[in-house]
Amino acid sequence: MSTLTIVGAREGNLRDVTLAIPKNKITVFAGVSGSGKSTLLVDVLATECQRLHLEALSMQGIPKPAVERVRGASPAIAILQDGANRNPRSTVGTATDVYTALRMVFEKLGEYPCPHCGEMLCAADCVEETERVGDDFRVYQFCPACGERMDKVTRTEFSFNTREGACPACEGMGEALSVDRAAAVDESLSREDGAVAFWQAKYREYQIGVFRAASRHFGLPDPARVPVGAFDALQKALLYEGAEAPALKEALPHVAPPRKVADGRFEGVVPLLMRRLGERGPDAKGVRPYLVRAACPVCGGERLGPRGRGATVAGTQLPQLANRSLRELAAWVRRVSAELGGPRRAMVKDYLLDMETKLARIGAVGLDYLTLDRATVTLSGGELQRLRLSAVLDSELSGVVYILDEPTAGLHPRDTEGLVDILRNLRDLGNTVLVIEHDLDVMRAADHLVDLGPGAGACGGRVVAEGSLADLAA
Ligand SMILES: [Zn+2]
Ligand SMILES: [Zn+2]
Repeated sequence: MSTLTIVGAREGNLRDVTLAIPKNKITVFAGVSGSGKSTLLVDVLATECQRLHLEALSMQGIPKPAVERVRGASPAIAILQDGANRNPRSTVGTATDVYTALRMVFEKLGEYPCPHCGEMLCAADCVEETERVGDDFRVYQFCPACGERMDKVTRTEFSFNTREGACPACEGMGEALSVDRAAAVDESLSREDGAVAFWQAKYREYQIGVFRAASRHFGLPDPARVPVGAFDALQKALLYEGAEAPALKEALPHVAPPRKVADGRFEGVVPLLMRRLGERGPDAKGVRPYLVRAACPVCGGERLGPRGRGATVAGTQLPQLANRSLRELAAWVRRVSAELGGPRRAMVKDYLLDMETKLARIGAVGLDYLTLDRATVTLSGGELQRLRLSAVLDSELSGVVYILDEPTAGLHPRDTEGLVDILRNLRDLGNTVLVIEHDLDVMRAADHLVDLGPGAGACGGRVVAEGSLADLAA
């Protein structure tokens, strides 16, 4: 039997550990927390395998761990719980690349109104034209109804991570700071009694003076000493939105807004705070208490600009799909795949197949309750590890050492069986699977077990027992 042999490991708390691990098998490493399991597998074995691999390519850079040698080393892939992508823009959709395939489907089959004649069109029916502009290419298409040329809505516009695709208001983040009206204005008070929290002393008198001039300008009664809660709709619009308030324009279309402050060019509580936010940032003194983080008012949290947001495929917008569970997304992909006619199907079949494959793998690791737009920073360690594991499923690689650290963490017990199948599958492809795990079902599935201990820290670091589960039980 070929083995992967660690000789004389002394890293961390390891007490000169020498261990032969069978290749092409599943070996589970048990033992109390801190007994040295991940030191042995990750810090010693994975690091030394990687170092030897690089050395064979005449590359250096990884310091040798405290181990005499590792015999029978193979390329090692550690699929761990930590080291999450801390980029807030990384989502399940971008990390798995499912979003990329979905964007392609929307580029090919997106339906949206023609900007010239308003007729609904499908990108698949339009004749295209590509023009070179400097270093860039611009893609145009012609409306089948009116024949006019327009910009094609391309994959970049279906990505919130590109300048072209992101909602301009929130830059693709889906949320934005906005004014918390209730925090800024106490409607039980009048202007004079301090309704607007950040109007103080002389500044309050000044603001009330401008408000009064604005009331005169619009011919509204000035609400002196009236609590804001008792203002009429136009007075409230003036207070919150200022002299440019849409409600004022609508109600008094013949009155142009005042040009000068002295004439009543009152700015309004909300525009003023937003202006200060823009000029000085959210941490500027006197702004922060009146701001809340909420779904972006422009895209409603959908992150895309108007063109990417508006297009539909099979009646569904891209942001709606990003919001659904991956299980529901898989059902949508199957439906689109079944309903598409020949030529359209040919345009997207590779992308649909790619999505089906990836979604099935994510289902196999029990994660199809996630949504595409779920930020990876919010995933638990177990979820993140299984998401990474899903990426190596069906991999063509063999002869690889896979190292997993408690892949059942946070997994529903009913999904353990599926995880065990995955480990067996990796093994049957000719890989060596090493799992740090306490779950009994996983231990039962192991071909070989290693128990490290007996205690933690200085009391650990030794191989206490190894063999089959029956050997260890005895
Ligand atoms: Zn048209
Ligand atoms: Zn937005």
